[in-house]
Amino acid sequence: KGPDPDLVSIVERMTTVKHKILVLSGKGGVGKSTFSAQLSFALASMDFQVGLLDIDICGPSIPKMLGLEGQEIHQSNLGWSPVYVESNLGVMSIGFMLPNPDDAVIWRGPRKNGIIKQFLKDVYWGELDFLIVDAPPGTSDEHISIVQFLQATGIDGAVIVTTPQQVSLIDVRKEVSFCKKVGLQVLGVVENMSGLSQPLSELRFLDGEQKDVTELVIASMREKVPEMLNLVAFSEVFDSSGGGGAKMCTDMGVPFLGKVPLDPRLCKAAEEGRSCFDDSKCRVRATALKAIVEKI
Ligand code: ADP
Repeated sequence: KGPDPDLVSIVERMTTVKHKILVLSGKGGVGKSTFSAQLSFALASMDFQVGLLDIDICGPSIPKMLGLEGQEIHQSNLGWSPVYVESNLGVMSIGFMLPNPDDAVIWRGPRKNGIIKQFLKDVYWGELDFLIVDAPPGTSDEHISIVQFLQATGIDGAVIVTTPQQVSLIDVRKEVSFCKKVGLQVLGVVENMSGLSQPLSELRFLDGEQKDVTELVIASMREKVPEMLNLVAFSEVFDSSGGGGAKMCTDMGVPFLGKVPLDPRLCKAAEEGRSCFDDSKCRVRATALKAIVEKI
């Protein structure tokens, strides 16, 4: 039996792509797509040529997070053309192919594998420094085929996104062991929603008596010690008493890339489909992300 012709086409297609990074998570809702989107924005802002491929077929949130809702894919004689945010940031997602964004995609394994294969084989990216692949959560059949296809073309490795609590980390351990089994390098783990930091001046309390008291305290601070309002309150939103992502990484012998705090401005940037790097107030998070990008 000769080589799989699809695999041959994928390898051929990927010869113009220098680096491929797969973004994985054990669970949904931990911020994997947000990270993939912001990582792509960050790399593009560093003047790299970037492609973002969304193969989270059941929940394609990438078009919205990049501000590309309602866009359509066009075809040329070179293949499917990605939708461009900027000249150096192209995006491809199943979301562009759904006639109605509210439609559920109920596909069985083979059909999902088919579209993933097609994405890898038929999208004309041109010359890319980085292809970021946003995978579905978990470790299913789809993951095995994605990894096999990408390995044939030489993939750099995977970044795993998690939140700090045990319930999430248990799944990350599975994700790491999946990578080890299939021979995929773990570039590192990002701990997202890792605590919440808010300047005191921005704290808002509940309704009723508490609110009255807080407003009084803030008003008196504003008057007497205004600099106190610049203090930042930090709160561990999720329980990380088990040591969080950093300890898990030490246990499993994989790099810990860093922490990204919960930041309402990041959520807003994702909702509005833009980079959080141009939001000067989102500095804490942008710094954390930048440090992570540099480590990758
Ligand atoms: P996943 O891809 O893992 O399912 P998403 O990236 O879709 O998760 O994130 C889920 C939600 O959480 C989104 O609304 C996103 O904007 C928000 N979010 C993710 N990370 C953060 C963060 N660090 N701070 C604030 N909101 C976040």
